[in-house]
Amino acid sequence: MGISWHVPCLYRGMGKTLEKIRSDPRVSEVYADSDGVWIYLRNGWGNGNPQEHIIVEDTVTEAYRKMRNILPCSCEQCTSA
Ligand SMILES: [Zn+2]
Repeated sequence: MGISWHVPCLYRGMGKTLEKIRSDPRVSEVYADSDGVWIYLRNGWGNGNPQEHIIVEDTVTEAYRKMRNILPCSCEQCTSA
């Protein structure tokens, strides 16, 4: 089977979770491509690691789970904008 899949398959049945991610006030943008699911966080939020403002996971479910780690971020990038 491998781990390859097509984006439409990824979205199928994942609409609700994607919508939950997208509607989170800490999220600026979310999309899925062949590299995985990308969640871009708004200024002032990080993924729990210093100066990282993006969550990348293979699946929508995993990405949504990782949102638990989101923490307020006050790095230079966040405070300068
Ligand atoms: Zn930051």
